[in-house]
Amino acid sequence: MTDWQKVESQVMMQVVRRMPATLVRGEGVRAWDDTGKSYLDFMGGWASNALGHCHAVQVEALRRQAEQLVHVTNAFYSVPQLELAQILVEHSVFDRVFFCNSGAEANEGAVKLARKYGRIHRNGAYEVISTLKGFHGRTLAMVAATGKPHYQEPFQPLPAGFVNVEYNSLEAIKAATTDRTCGVLLEPIQGEGGVNVADDDYLRGVRAWCDEKGLVLIMDEVQTGVARTGKLWGYEHSGIRPDIMALAKGIGGGVPLGAILATEQAAAAFAPGDHGSTFGGNPLMCAVGRDVMRYVIDNDLAGHAHRIGQYLVSRLNEFRTEYPGIADIRGRGLLVALELEQERAGEVVNAALAEGLLLNACTPTVIRFMPPLIITEVHVDEAISILDRALARVIERAVAAS
Ligand SMILES: *Cc1c(COP(=O)(O)O)cnc(C)c1O
Repeated sequence: MTDWQKVESQVMMQVVRRMPATLVRGEGVRAWDDTGKSYLDFMGGWASNALGHCHAVQVEALRRQAEQLVHVTNAFYSVPQLELAQILVEHSVFDRVFFCNSGAEANEGAVKLARKYGRIHRNGAYEVISTLKGFHGRTLAMVAATGKPHYQEPFQPLPAGFVNVEYNSLEAIKAATTDRTCGVLLEPIQGEGGVNVADDDYLRGVRAWCDEKGLVLIMDEVQTGVARTGKLWGYEHSGIRPDIMALAKGIGGGVPLGAILATEQAAAAFAPGDHGSTFGGNPLMCAVGRDVMRYVIDNDLAGHAHRIGQYLVSRLNEFRTEYPGIADIRGRGLLVALELEQERAGEVVNAALAEGLLLNACTPTVIRFMPPLIITEVHVDEAISILDRALARVIERAVAAS
């Protein structure tokens, strides 16, 4: 049998620390590695696999569209793209859509739109305020927007025009606002930063501040969008209307698809030629996005994620009495975190992998759960019993060792 982990070490750029499993097949909430071992998948492809692995809706959309038309450029009108755009506009507070291929690209385009808006409406203002511990992607500009020194330092100088301030502090945004500011870029919940849930008052305050100063409010919903947090869009929890929203991850259920949504007023800043993409809006990807979004909406996966997320949190809370050192359990819908007092999240995740459960340690202390939106209580119970064994391996040993 080929040792794929060795091949990876030889031919791939060494930019990610992978978990020691070569996944070759998936079905529903389960994935299998090349030795035949099965895993319960609570990592969900970084919250992309909204419908789980190889859902019939997704596979059928791919097959049917692949037989009909895989690619045409945006030099032409294309039906799946327009059908998906209609769904997004009908089911959000936004009026217009631009399609791209990834989250970083969606945010990058959103920032371009904010700059163009600042140029027109705010005397050439171009600076975007974003938050410390946020995450917006890996392009140079999005690294500048991502307030994490270890992502930024190796790549100096970064593009100018970004200020990083503390999350969940309206005062910090007010203090950073100058004549140069054109917009604010925020996640409604910081996903990779540790599942940090913003106060609803914070988002309402930022909205009011943006209105007062004429700034555009960009919601990065690459992770929180598409029913993940128990509402179709994360901004709905606070009842605000952002000007721009960036999407990717769940919108395609696991195929590379991203989108920028904007209100008429914000979108009007773009003129023909200002932005574009060869693959953005590709018929194959948009056919999948269209059918995934329809499924998510028709089956109220947002309501489902809310209910199952509450059940997951309640089951996780049982660990508080069983294990010492659990600092916090938090989240919304099916974006949930278990935080440890000690920096042992990685050890727990590795132990869970060995026991057959895929999880993610998004910080040294935080274990993140972002399973497919289709999971049921039965899957939660199974994950809890596997995690129980994993925690026992790590945390009891820690007690015995001390
Ligand atoms: C994953 C993520 C991104 C980056 O998405 P890519 O598709 O990897 O470029 C941006 N913002 C948030 C909030 C994310 O979770």
